[in-house]
Amino acid sequence: MLNINAKLRNIPAIDKLLAMAKSRDYLAEFPQESIVGALRNAVDNARQELKLGNEFDITPEGIVAQATQIIVNREKSSLQRVVNATGVVLHTNLGRAPLSDRAASAVNKVMIGYSSLEYNVADGQRGTRYSHIADRIARLVGAQDAIVVNNNAAAVLLVLSTLARGREVIVSRGQLVEIGGSFRVPDVMRQSGAILVEVGTTNKTHIADYENAISDNTGAILKVHTSNYRIVGFTDQPDDVKLKQLAIRRNVPLLEDLGSGTLLPLSVKDWHEPSVAERLEKGIDIVTFSGDKLLGAGQGGIIAGKKEYIDKMKNHPLLRAIRIDKLSLAALEGTLIDYEIGNAEQTIPVQRYLRMSYDKLAEKAAKLKQDLVFLPKNDWICETVNIESQAGGGSLPGVGMASVGFAIKPTSISTAQLEKRLRGYTVPIIVRVQNDSVIIDVRCLEDGDMLIISQAFKAIVEGVS
Ligand SMILES: *Cc1c(COP(=O)(O)O)cnc(C)c1O
Repeated sequence: MLNINAKLRNIPAIDKLLAMAKSRDYLAEFPQESIVGALRNAVDNARQELKLGNEFDITPEGIVAQATQIIVNREKSSLQRVVNATGVVLHTNLGRAPLSDRAASAVNKVMIGYSSLEYNVADGQRGTRYSHIADRIARLVGAQDAIVVNNNAAAVLLVLSTLARGREVIVSRGQLVEIGGSFRVPDVMRQSGAILVEVGTTNKTHIADYENAISDNTGAILKVHTSNYRIVGFTDQPDDVKLKQLAIRRNVPLLEDLGSGTLLPLSVKDWHEPSVAERLEKGIDIVTFSGDKLLGAGQGGIIAGKKEYIDKMKNHPLLRAIRIDKLSLAALEGTLIDYEIGNAEQTIPVQRYLRMSYDKLAEKAAKLKQDLVFLPKNDWICETVNIESQAGGGSLPGVGMASVGFAIKPTSISTAQLEKRLRGYTVPIIVRVQNDSVIIDVRCLEDGDMLIISQAFKAIVEGVS
């Protein structure tokens, strides 16, 4: 006990520590009060550990090193850039869509200064945030008008609240979707104040089912894109033309939550993801879709279709609570410009990754193999493998896209340890583990990512990571 008290008394005084701390290059950059705060934290830690009978370095060097670590940790962002080597193009946990160069630069311009967010520069008058993108979206998808809110879940909520509060909305039982993160059609419906009327069965819904369910209190017919599952086998959904005729005859709006909503038609194997324009052409009155799924922008929920309905939404009080912020809006506009200019299949990263040819993937895998050629052959078993990547983010459900991966099996450490070290690298590298190997799917890797991967392996081989 005496020993501990003696040690406690030996903890250096803050003013002595401060002089030493200020002489360190890294710490010298920080304001004095934050250095003092970190030193106090370090001293408190030392006291606690010593009282518990644990070892603690209480030399001035030791305490200053502790304080430095406290500041280093404080400076580190929790939200950080990672390398997506999973091959899942729209990985919801990894932030969904990376932005195009044009979109990123649009965000950058708007974020560092003031902007014309709600200001009409031509008139010198107040404007609206929705004016920046409405015409572009309308042109791109062939709609009369459009607005955008903070995500697609909010878009669906606004549409139902505006058009169907207190009224019935008819949905096929095969389309009562749950998306990850607790978006469930019946729950959103309840939240909006609309009354869900389920029709048909899980596998089959006929036009007569919709017809029989329509009453004087019907507010809308809602179709929902089955984004993350497929019903196969003995299945049926009514023909779009018949559904549209029914909606016209009974005078109810026909709505569709497209979920991923691609602007360019996308076909992979037997799966055809219809474009937003294709759906509107089929007579859907209002569509909703995400900004950060197949469209490839930032978070956002786009509502497009008939002007008379969109006008009502513009006046709904909920709109203010779910409005899109200026950074997401800038990302969306930049991305939409990419689509309008053309060549979006190349300039928008998610579009490029989804359409990447097998030859291109093989070429990238060969480059990665070359980059990692320094891995000692005896300790690292590496081979190029054929794998499948997924679109993810509630699009192209269950459609595996042929891809190329680099499989790495270390012999000096376990596969689980390798995965952990890659994940713990300065820029975390997120991989798949399959058949006791780390698999790097090259589909979503840019040249800069390949460089980070080879640097990480160098650090692991040299034992510094
Ligand atoms: C993804 C998805 C949503 C939710 O969209 P967010 O932009 O993530 O809010 C809603 N409906 C469907 C069908 C979806 O696929």
